[in-house]
Amino acid sequence: MAASSNSSLSGSSVSSDAEEYQPPIWKSYLYQLQQEAPRPKRIICPQEVENRPKYYGREFHGIISREQADEILAGVEGAYILRESQRQPGCYTLALRFGNQTLNYRLFYDGKHFVGEKRFESIHDLVTDGLITLYIETKASEYIAKMTKNPIYEHIGYATLLREKVSRRLSRTKTESRKASVTSEENTPVEKITSLVRRAALTQNDNHFNYEKAHNFKVYTFRGPHWCEYCANFMWGLIAQGVRCSDCGLNVHKQCSKYVPNDCQPDLKRIKRVYCCDLTTLVKAHNTQRPMVVDICIREIEARGLKSEGLYRVSGFTEHIEDVKMAFDRDGDKADISANLYPDINIIAGALKLYFRDLPIPVITYETYSKFMEAAKISNPDERLEAVHEVLMLLPAAHYETLRYLMIHLKKVTLNEKENFMNSENLGIVFGPTLMRPPEDSTLTTLNDMRYQKLIVQILIENEDVLF
Ligand SMILES: [Zn+2]
Ligand SMILES: [Zn+2]
Repeated sequence: MAASSNSSLSGSSVSSDAEEYQPPIWKSYLYQLQQEAPRPKRIICPQEVENRPKYYGREFHGIISREQADEILAGVEGAYILRESQRQPGCYTLALRFGNQTLNYRLFYDGKHFVGEKRFESIHDLVTDGLITLYIETKASEYIAKMTKNPIYEHIGYATLLREKVSRRLSRTKTESRKASVTSEENTPVEKITSLVRRAALTQNDNHFNYEKAHNFKVYTFRGPHWCEYCANFMWGLIAQGVRCSDCGLNVHKQCSKYVPNDCQPDLKRIKRVYCCDLTTLVKAHNTQRPMVVDICIREIEARGLKSEGLYRVSGFTEHIEDVKMAFDRDGDKADISANLYPDINIIAGALKLYFRDLPIPVITYETYSKFMEAAKISNPDERLEAVHEVLMLLPAAHYETLRYLMIHLKKVTLNEKENFMNSENLGIVFGPTLMRPPEDSTLTTLNDMRYQKLIVQILIENEDVLF
């Protein structure tokens, strides 16, 4: 009922004409309901109550019955008191008047007050939020149930909603392409491009490396009114009104987060580090095909280190490797790892290995690990290769591409075996445990798996075509 009577407010603002940019019209129905919700009215106990917990105020009425509580609240919407259970002393109840009845909630305290998931600094905040939630969920239950069904997100995409973010991202890409100066793309000023071009550019941009990435939603408390960037509805409540993606900053209802596609475009500003950052997240944030650390290190090694004896086996000074790691974390793709600063190529090789080891999800993911091990155990070489090929297809796209690129490089390393004394077996020993780790850290498994990890890398280096 509520929904239909407010159809003008809730109606979609999306134009069918894709050429025309339509600024999103946030739906204000739920916001208005929140404004209408009853306010908390604290009913103070007229006499001093013994055994009042320190963290409760004079709204605490001591041990009284439900009926007494009901009388005290006297039919005033939003009125509330706290009482101690008659049957279970030490247990406390919030009695709250809403919808012409008295509702009783078991109340908890552990430094914060709560009756459910949300935790509050004060009873007043808890009741305020409770009344908003009760009011909105009673008045607009149908509306809320339907709000995820007709998202604005699919029509125009959150990119269009967040125009500012998009133009920032575009200007970033533009400077990058100018700097790279490989392609001489047209230099349309960002201000001049229409929303359609902006959208198309973004789509192209995003699809270039076509990697899917799920959003990294965390429960979030918004200061001031906020609207869901998926369904365009108001995010009600006093705290924890919705969730925010820690990687791109997308704000949505918790119930809407389930429907948002895996199109997270991380914001470089939110990605604090390069090392220890999820591989796909880093790649999406920098809009590169592979983690830039991998490209930069490999470029440096191929320029001046391919013939270095014991490349990847000989370790560089740990402090210097840490230095390189810090340079990447600090300066991103502008990190200086030139021979002036690091004449010893083993430091760069060490920094690359450390990058792989520090990944929260290894290049060969936990999910595929056991399948790789099974494949490696097959004795017939042709069947084994076929099995490896099949498991490779299960890797996330950015992981696969990184592995492919690394193997082309390692092949080049083996072509210089006469000078560097590194063949595919040596490299397998080094890179096996660097690229894959068993999901559960059991020393026994690791020892047992070591030779198969080595074998996988060896197979990949020797059979380049398995990765194409
Ligand atoms: Zn995201
Ligand atoms: Zn929503």
